Amino acid sequence: ECLLRDADTAMYRAKALGRARYHIFDPAMYQEAIQLLEIENDLRRAIERQEFLIYYQPIISLTTGMIAGFEALVRWQHPIRGLIYPVEFIPAAEETGLINAINIWVLQSACQQLYIWQNHLVTPKNLTISVNFSARLFSQPNLIAQIDQIIYETKINFANLQLEITESVIMENTKTIKVILKQMRERKIKLIMDDFGTGYSSLSYLHNLPLNALKIDKSFVKRMQDNQENMGLVPAMIGIAKSMGMAAIAEGVESKEQLDKLKNLNCDFVQGYLFSKPIQQQLILDLLTAKPHW
Ligand code: C2E
Ligand code: CA
Ligand code: CA
Ligand code: CA
Repeated sequence: ECLLRDADTAMYRAKALGRARYHIFDPAMYQEAIQLLEIENDLRRAIERQEFLIYYQPIISLTTGMIAGFEALVRWQHPIRGLIYPVEFIPAAEETGLINAINIWVLQSACQQLYIWQNHLVTPKNLTISVNFSARLFSQPNLIAQIDQIIYETKINFANLQLEITESVIMENTKTIKVILKQMRERKIKLIMDDFGTGYSSLSYLHNLPLNALKIDKSFVKRMQDNQENMGLVPAMIGIAKSMGMAAIAEGVESKEQLDKLKNLNCDFVQGYLFSKPIQQQLILDLLTAKPHW
């Protein structure tokens, strides 16, 4: 009976999500609702038992050739299924709202890690940590208070924290979001527009927001390689960043050719398998102390 009630709840949610407009008794949809419920329960347990891990990927400054910081990328160490990548659970986490708890955990753990790197190593000064921020976080009450608390407890500087937000946050453009972004800016937290070019942001929106950098999505970097002459949209995107006084970051850099092109275009930062895949914390020390291989 309990299971039935749960299933009903799941059905109700699926409907609320707009997937069940017509066929309420569609078995496929019912199956989907059950699956969402299962993954929700699984995710709840994962949060309680702290089954998440963070992999870190270096971001390289093309001005210095050195590692400027790291992007925190979450993974789920599932007791049965093994290591699970974000594509497989972030969508469900977003739908169920559990993304907020996961995201706050990532923020806290990444800040703790940054403090350790900063204090136990001869590392580049002002190493940054970038955390992906779901749009849903912006509707969480006390978001700023929570960030303040984490910064206070982990003892890092606000200025070393970079939040990667997507165009969907910007497009909502509500009063609340504007206030939050302003509070972030007052604290000198850096804001990066992630997956730039894949959404619908209009240039006027971008212009009015306190953004520090645009991160060019890897799909654009990939296309740049396909054709020697055709650089695709990347030069224009870097131009937009520069003209608005923002830094340009290119992700998904896999080849020397791509790197050379990005250098010629005066891109500011690069990230990708050419430098390093996202790796676990234990391997970061070696990376930071080794001579760059790029
Ligand atoms: P993203 O923010 O666009 O992150 C970049 C993705 O590209 C990462 O995938 C990264 O591992 C991958 N990548 C990096 N360099 C290369 C490369 O040279 N080539 C290729 N082919 N891929 C590369 P990952 O780690 O699987 O993460 C996928 C997405 O999941 C992220 O996309 C981000 O949107 C989301 N995500 C990851 N961690 C978090 C988190 O803590 N919170 C939230 N809200 N979302 C997260
Ligand atoms: Ca990102
Ligand atoms: Ca993203
Ligand atoms: Ca991306």
